[in-house]
Amino acid sequence: MKRYFTTATVLVLWLAIFFCCGCGSGEEDRNWSGKEDGGEIVACQYVDTAMGTVIRQTIYASEQSAEAFSQEVMALLTDLESKKLSWRLESSEVYRINASAGKEEGCVLTEEMAQLLQSCVDLYERTEGAFDVTLGPVSRLWDIDRWAAEGGEDFQPPSPEDIREAVSLCGSDRLRLEGEESARIFLPEGMQLDLGAVGKGVALSRLCELLEDQTEITGAVISLGGSILTWGSKPDGSVWKVGIVNPFDTSSNIGILSLEGQWCVSTSGDYERYVEADGVRYHHILDPATGRPAVGSVRGVSVLSRDGLVSDGLSTACFILGPEKGMALAAEYGVEVLFVMDDGEIIMSDGMEKYATVQTGH
Ligand code: AMP
Ligand code: MG
Repeated sequence: MKRYFTTATVLVLWLAIFFCCGCGSGEEDRNWSGKEDGGEIVACQYVDTAMGTVIRQTIYASEQSAEAFSQEVMALLTDLESKKLSWRLESSEVYRINASAGKEEGCVLTEEMAQLLQSCVDLYERTEGAFDVTLGPVSRLWDIDRWAAEGGEDFQPPSPEDIREAVSLCGSDRLRLEGEESARIFLPEGMQLDLGAVGKGVALSRLCELLEDQTEITGAVISLGGSILTWGSKPDGSVWKVGIVNPFDTSSNIGILSLEGQWCVSTSGDYERYVEADGVRYHHILDPATGRPAVGSVRGVSVLSRDGLVSDGLSTACFILGPEKGMALAAEYGVEVLFVMDDGEIIMSDGMEKYATVQTGH
C-alpha cells in the first residue's frame, strides 16, 4: 500500500475522472470536439446522454465508421437501460423482478441477469453486506438522485422510523436465486433491486464486446459518468491517459492513470450526487448498516479492472468499506484501487503504482 499527500494548495480533495485522448490537458480535451489527423484514422468525439449520465466517446477510426459506431454505442446504452436495468421503466427486467416481490412463483431471469445478480450476491457476501443491490427501499426513500437533479431545495432527511422500516426490507441474504439455465429469483415482499452501483460497469463490459466484434475501430475511450472504458490503441501508439482531477479546482490534477489497451476505471465519490441541508451533505452511497449515506473519511475511490462489473461494484463497495477493508477486497478480486481521503491523503494499492502518477506535496 502506498500513501501520498497532495500539495498544500489542495485543501479539500474531490476526486473526479476525466479522460484525455491525444495531448493537452483534460480540460481542453473535455471541451474538444472534432477530429484529429492520423492518416486514415481520425479521433472523433461525441457527447450525449444516456443512463442518466453524460456519455463521452472518443473513437479512433475513419470518420464514417466512428459516426456509425457512436450511434451503436448510444443504441446499446439506451437498450440496456430500458430493457434491463431501469427500476423506473416498466419495459425493463429489473422492473419485472421488483414487481414480482412477494409472489410465490418469483420471476424468471435472463441468463445475463442471473449471472449479474449472482456476482452482486457474491460481493454482498465478501463485503459482509456493505454492498447490497437489494437496497432499493432505502435508496428510494432518500431519493438523492432526484433531489440532486432538482437542486435539493426543501430537502429533509427521512425520519429514523422510515429509515428503519426501509432497512428491514433489504438484505441480499434474503433473496433466493434458483437454477442456472432457466434461473428464477424470489424477492421477499417489499424488497426492491437497485442496480445503480453496477449499471455503468455492466454497460462497459457490453461496449467492450461490441468493440471486439468489429474491425473498423482501432481505439476508443468511452466515459459513462464515473465509469470509463479504454480499448485498443491510438494511431501514434501513445498510452491512454485517464486523469484524476481535483474538482474544487478542476484545472489541477491529483493524478493520471496511464493505460495501454483495454481497461475499466470506475470512480465512486460523495460529490457525484448529493444534497445539502443544515450544513450536512447527504450523498448517494448508502451504508446498509445504517440506511444513511455512508460516513467515513473517504471522499472518492477509483478502481482499475479489466472487467466493468468488478470496477463499478468494487468502487461503490470500497467507498463504504474504507481503505483497510477496501484494499483487502481489491486484492481478493485482483484489481487496483486508489482512495482519496478527506485530509488530502491518497492511498493506493501497490499495483496501482505502475499506472498512477500522483502529484505529491509533503
Ligand atoms: P456508484 O456511483 O457506482 O458508486 O453507485 C451509487 C449508486 O449505487 C447509488 O446511486 C445507488 O443507486 C446504489 N447504491 C447506494 N449504496 C449502495 C450500496 N451500499 N450497495 C449497493 N448499491 C448501492
Ligand atoms: Mg459503482
